[in-house]
Order: sequence, then structure tokens, then C-alpha cells
Amino acid sequence: MNPVKLAVAGVRGLQPYQPGKPTTALEREYGIQDAVKLASNENPLGPAPSALQALVGAAGTFARYPDGNGFELKQALANKLRIDPAQITLGNGSNEILELVARTFVTSADEVVYAEHAFVVYPLVTQAIGAQGIVVPAIDWGYDLRGMAAAVTSRTRLAFIANPNNPTGTWVSAAALERFLGSVPDHVLVVVDEAYWDYVTEPDYPNCIEWLDRFDNLIVTRTFSKAYGLAGLRIGYGVSSPGIADLLNRVRQPFNASSPAQVAALAALQDEEHIRLSVDLNGEQMRRLSQAFAAMGLHTIASVGNFLCVNVNGPGMQVYEALLHYGVIVRPVANYGMPNHLRVTVGLPEENDRLVTAMSRILERSVPA
Ligand SMILES: *Cc1c(COP(=O)(O)O)cnc(C)c1O
Repeated sequence: MNPVKLAVAGVRGLQPYQPGKPTTALEREYGIQDAVKLASNENPLGPAPSALQALVGAAGTFARYPDGNGFELKQALANKLRIDPAQITLGNGSNEILELVARTFVTSADEVVYAEHAFVVYPLVTQAIGAQGIVVPAIDWGYDLRGMAAAVTSRTRLAFIANPNNPTGTWVSAAALERFLGSVPDHVLVVVDEAYWDYVTEPDYPNCIEWLDRFDNLIVTRTFSKAYGLAGLRIGYGVSSPGIADLLNRVRQPFNASSPAQVAALAALQDEEHIRLSVDLNGEQMRRLSQAFAAMGLHTIASVGNFLCVNVNGPGMQVYEALLHYGVIVRPVANYGMPNHLRVTVGLPEENDRLVTAMSRILERSVPA
């Protein structure tokens, strides 16, 4: 029996998501110690200490099922974001929200619009349900929102926009996004994926949650995996109209957000100082990394996230593998149509130093001052 023949059509052609290599895997496979992982855009400072304390404090409750409605966390998010808790859908990471939206609203007869070099989960969830992905070519690595609006047909049900986009780090301005939202017809839902929202300091970067009253086809997703430093706990959320949230709520697993995740997220949300420290460190180290790559003669794509794509002027996969021997894990992005780039997460100063030193040796470029 060939199970592939039994699989639904969309799944047969699917390539699994390739996660960043865990440090433990590198240490095991290469016999390396002190590996540095700059591959999955995690916060190098980790979560707020208060979130860890809250986790330990709640350990005695973990024999119980979580609050399936996430009451306290939704209440806290609603207060912070000035929305109604009924607009929130909690997810096992925001990736789950992306998948839930596709499963709730899209069939195999429909089309889903996303951009070239866009986050790979969009084609994944689209193909898994056998829907047709419409890929709109990028302009200067960034989104062509006019092109995306023009790609919408009567069969389009969904458009995915990562702002900023992963892996490119490019972003769309408030004006451009507002124009796009105003131009798509009612039968198209628009997911604006704001996984890196907290990191962005650009003045023309939109806060899409403020637009939910005006665009009832809008779904904004955010996560605790990046700036909040809770990637391992898997918790994110969608914000939408209550009507959309109600539909997503019918499809989701009853206990998709675990109690440790809810407890830690609730505590992390209160610690604005930790976010500020994380964002400041990221800004400072982003500048240092960009300058170091420029000093090596390497071009980077301007990024507003906590990661940076660098053009290594040759197969990125080879440089990726060479970096592993130095104990530095980054992310090859050939699967994003970017074979000569590597995506690197902005880490702690000493982690970034390890990366820069290893890169300069591998590429035989002088070490920048
Ligand atoms: C990291 C990331 C996510 C979030 O993933 P989680 O499931 O919340 O961990 C979503 N979208 C983009 C573009 C990302 O880079």
C-alpha cells in the first residue's frame, strides 16, 4: 500500500516546513559545543523573567486542562489593544491562526493570493487544502500591493500579507496597506501577519488593529514567539471581527492554547520594559550587523524585523554549511527563491560577533573593525 496515493491531492505535493536547526542537533551531529542559533528569529534575551516566574508558580495547575476560552489572557489582550475579547482567537502559535483561517474559509476550488518570497506557511496552508496559490512577483524584494490587488479574482477568498515579511524583512506602509484594504472586494479576507509588530520602529508602519472597525474582512495575527520570547510555548492570536472569531472558534481544537502558554503570555504581556529592552538591543545590533556585512562588501535587504537577509554572492547553502562548522546556525532561504541569501537573526552582541567572524573567514573577507 502506497500511502501517498491515499493522501488528498494537496498533501501529495507538499514539502514539509523546514525549521531552523536546533543547537542540540548541531552539537549532536558535529560534536560542537556552544553552538549559536541565529536561525528562527527568537528573542536572544528570552522571555521576561516574570513570565518564567509565573510558569513556575502555575506548575501545580498543569494536571488540569487549560481554560479552553483563554479568558484571562483574552481580557488582558483586549485591554491592551482596546478591543473586545470576542474579537480574539488564541492559537498554538500564530501559525495555527493562519491555518485555521485557510481551513475555515477556503476550499480546493478557491484561490489564495500571496507574494513571491513571502512566509512559507502561506503556500503550505494553501496547498494542504488543495487551493490554488497565486504568487505575485516581488518588487525590490518587497510586496507589490497593487499587483496583489490586481491578482484578486472572483475565486479569491484570502490574501496573506506579512508586515514585515519573513524572510526579507521588508514592510508595507500604512498608506499602501490602507489603499490595498480599500480596494479588495468583500469576498476576500485579508490576513495581515504582524509577527514582528513589536520590533518595528518605522513611523509609517501601520497598527492594523485600529482598522478593524473599518475593514470587516481584516484579520490581524500576532504572536508571543518573537519579541515576547515564548516560541517554545506556542502561543499567538488573531484579532478580527467577532463574527470571524466565532467561525475560527468552531474549527480550532478545544485546548489549542496550553495552560503554561496562557500563564506565561499573560505575565509577559505586562512587562513592557522587557519588550523595550529587547527592541533597543535589536535596533542597536541590527545596525552593527548591517555595518559589518557592508564592510565585508555584502549587500543586505533593509529589514525592520529582528532578522536580516544577506547576499553572500554565491550559493547560500554552502555558506550555511560552512557556518555550521563554526557552530553558527543561520537560515538558508533557497526555498524562498533566494539561493544567494542567508537569513540571520539578530542575536546578542557576542553571538553576532561569532557570526561575523565566521562569515569573514569563510568568505575570506577582512574582519571589520
Ligand atoms: C515567526 C513567524 C510567525 C509566528 O509563528 P508562531 O506560530 O507564532 O510561532 C508568523 N508569521 C511570520 C511571518 C513569522 O515569521
